[in-house]
Amino acid sequence: MSRVLVINCGSSSLKYRLFDGDETKAKGLIERIGEEGGDAPSHSTALRQIMDSIDLTGLAAVGHRVVHGGPRFSEPAVIDDDVVSDIVALAPLAPLHNPPALSGIAVARRMLPDVPQVAVFDTAFHATIPPEGVTWAIDRKLAERWQIRRYGFHGTSHAYVARETTRLLGKSTANVITLHLGNGASACAVEGGRSVATSMGLSPQGGLVMGTRSGDIDPTVVFHLHRVAGLPLDEIEDTLTRHAGLIGLTGENDLRAVLQRRQGGDPAAKLAFDVYCRRIREYVGAYLAVLGRVDAITFTAGVGENSPAVRAASLAGLESLGIVVDPERNQRAERVISPDGMPIAVCVVPTDEELEIANQSRAALRSS
Ligand code: ADP
Repeated sequence: MSRVLVINCGSSSLKYRLFDGDETKAKGLIERIGEEGGDAPSHSTALRQIMDSIDLTGLAAVGHRVVHGGPRFSEPAVIDDDVVSDIVALAPLAPLHNPPALSGIAVARRMLPDVPQVAVFDTAFHATIPPEGVTWAIDRKLAERWQIRRYGFHGTSHAYVARETTRLLGKSTANVITLHLGNGASACAVEGGRSVATSMGLSPQGGLVMGTRSGDIDPTVVFHLHRVAGLPLDEIEDTLTRHAGLIGLTGENDLRAVLQRRQGGDPAAKLAFDVYCRRIREYVGAYLAVLGRVDAITFTAGVGENSPAVRAASLAGLESLGIVVDPERNQRAERVISPDGMPIAVCVVPTDEELEIANQSRAALRSS
């Protein structure tokens, strides 16, 4: 079962990677799919072109990233018609993300009818969070009827990074706070390999400050924008998901641009950076309390792997808790950036969601 094709159809992009074992044989990214005025093809056309252009002989499986598994999927699922119907039924929970994944699944099943296909869900890793960590204190009947609860996302990344951190520490089991800071961002408390808390909720909107998403806000902001400012609901959704976070505070969604402006003394960029890092610190504090004992805090994804400034600022002032970032190790982005012998290691571990999807797809087929 060595050759696996991983397909990740995002809301406006398509990433693919062909693995032989852990080795990458082919990969690519098509962006701006479906954008007005863009010349990129649809997800289906793009995927057909990709599959025509790479050597798929001896393929053991196709692994599909599916963002929302709802309450139904707590682990990867070997795809059949029932699984597809269940993913279709979940579309209202992830209207931007699940439909493109379904297009990818349909094309791959049509083009490779004899190759098993596996759906790997971003939410599944968080199925181990106990009820008190996924339940919001709202009307119980409404919540049950409309499947309103915390699901959490970035599960393949948190699972991979927590496992790699445990290996890096030379331990067989560890409690890790993982901080996935990319365009989307989320924190996760991992206890001995199991997710016990995470910052995203019903959708990938809650929790940390992101490139274009607000993260946690008081829900009254929505009522206020509707009733007092007179904005229709669609516009409120648009502002909170596409014009909030770093872009809302500075006009830039890329942290590199924010950092540059901050260095030049721009007060809006300074405030955005401070808000971004403070929110991370608040979640670290919360997850220290959830876990009780923590072996490591690990940064990953575009910002986490590349920004010494964010790593240092978000953990500043936590020395009395045994959390220290060594400035030189941090600057060099060493795997462990805390001084030797600290009770809590601070780590930088590159994530690899596609490799995790390939491995989870193989495991799902072995146990099916
Ligand atoms: P995605 O969530 O789309 O997979 P990534 O994990 O690749 O995104 O993260 C992308 C983000 O990482 C960019 O928007 C940028 O803000 C940030 N980033 C990348 N390199 C750096 C860097 N050297 N310093 C600070 N931020 C960076």
